[in-house]
Amino acid sequence: MTDALARLRELMVDDLAVHGGRSLAYVYDAGREDVDAVAGEAVSMYAGANGLDPSAFPSLLAMENELVGFACDLVDAPDTAVGTVTTGGTESIMLAVQGARDARPDIERPNIVLPETAHPSFQKAAQYFGIDQVSVRVDGHYRAQVGAMAEAMDADTVLAVASAPSYAHGVVDPIAWIAAACAAKNVPLHVDACIGGWILAYADRIGRVKPAWTFAVPGVSSISVDLHKYGYTPKGASILLHRTAAERRPTYFSSADWPGYTMVNTTMASTRPGGPLAGAWATVQTIGEQGYLELARDCLDAVDLLLTGIDEIDGLELVVRPDSTLVAVRTDGSCDVFTIADEMVERGWYVGPQMSWRGEPPTLHLSVSAATLGHVDECLAALRDSVEAARATGPVRVDRSIAAALDSLVPDRLTDDEFDALLVAAGLAGAGGAVSLPRRMAPVNVLFNAAPPRLREALLETYVDRLYRPVRARVSDAATT
Ligand SMILES: *Cc1c(COP(=O)(O)O)cnc(C)c1O
Repeated sequence: MTDALARLRELMVDDLAVHGGRSLAYVYDAGREDVDAVAGEAVSMYAGANGLDPSAFPSLLAMENELVGFACDLVDAPDTAVGTVTTGGTESIMLAVQGARDARPDIERPNIVLPETAHPSFQKAAQYFGIDQVSVRVDGHYRAQVGAMAEAMDADTVLAVASAPSYAHGVVDPIAWIAAACAAKNVPLHVDACIGGWILAYADRIGRVKPAWTFAVPGVSSISVDLHKYGYTPKGASILLHRTAAERRPTYFSSADWPGYTMVNTTMASTRPGGPLAGAWATVQTIGEQGYLELARDCLDAVDLLLTGIDEIDGLELVVRPDSTLVAVRTDGSCDVFTIADEMVERGWYVGPQMSWRGEPPTLHLSVSAATLGHVDECLAALRDSVEAARATGPVRVDRSIAAALDSLVPDRLTDDEFDALLVAAGLAGAGGAVSLPRRMAPVNVLFNAAPPRLREALLETYVDRLYRPVRARVSDAATT
């Protein structure tokens, strides 16, 4: 008999820590064990439930309506507002874009207008739904430029986009101004508050005034806000809100044109897992208004302390002063961010490397959680030591021959052989072209960073394609041991 859970516990050892406030990307930690316990129990209670049919699982319908109601209050939604709980920010955004497209069947070749700092899920939506994407340059502080956005909107624009805040730099676009331009051009505006919406709303309530971004701004038509980020809920929950039910309606899908049950889907999925919704509902119930206020205060305090501390670290500098809890830093060139990230891992911290973009150097991303507040000094000490270690070794360089090889590759026609040769040249290949997850990522990151964006995408896809390969012996092995 094998114990699956024991094996999972063994495997988990290599994973990023979900609790402890030391993982500054991908996970968000309220630092509340009581909340985690309740949320975990709720997820498992609802593991088998299916939100596909609200008449079969009325409790899921009730939870969804309560969650959306809670979010409506957060984002100053008018009485006409409605919302849908989705599996994540990407699904919320894809639905927002699809709904905006299908609200305008009269437009033959629809486009969306977005700042170049917008989350890639908008590019994904444009690609999936056959929509042109018009990317607009941001200003020197990485915020959308109102004039350029307005200019880019034309008669075929079905949706404009602004971020509150952007992921990479944590700044909020000038939403009131963009919304005014949208209203003048009769273009709906989607505010992507996926990552920061939940906490920005509380920042406002505790007097840390932030730029306006909610439905209080006339011209904002829809807002996406993730629960599984600063709502601190288990993964798999986000909310898409529309100002009116009429605007939401095109996101629905129904079919009576088959022999089975008449289908109505409110999201991209059909079977809708009950676990994440129940986990989110239980989390919001348990933390509550007062709890979120305290968590927001903790988180913003942690950010302030980090910003001050980072200022004092030689070799490190802020890219821009954030409007939120997301911090981007870069080096002064004496070391590279990828080595710093690896050194942070050695010290029990995870920060997210962000590659060079539009000729600007790569950066480190820190999504600060409420649970980080208790460890700010430790974080700053780890950063200081990591920068020192990275300076001692100096920046990882891309070998000349590898740089030449990169130059010769054509992204659209990247073959397996070329990729293999590159891996071998970079000393990254395993036996038979197999790739693995190295403990130190800097050599891989530096290589990818040296590639132009299109090639970087192709390289990364090929790399990931190699990572996801079936392991065919494990189950039978386990059964016989
Ligand atoms: C995380 C994020 C998204 C996408 O959300 P997922 O839950 O990862 O699908 C969209 N926009 C921004 C700004 C984000 O940070």
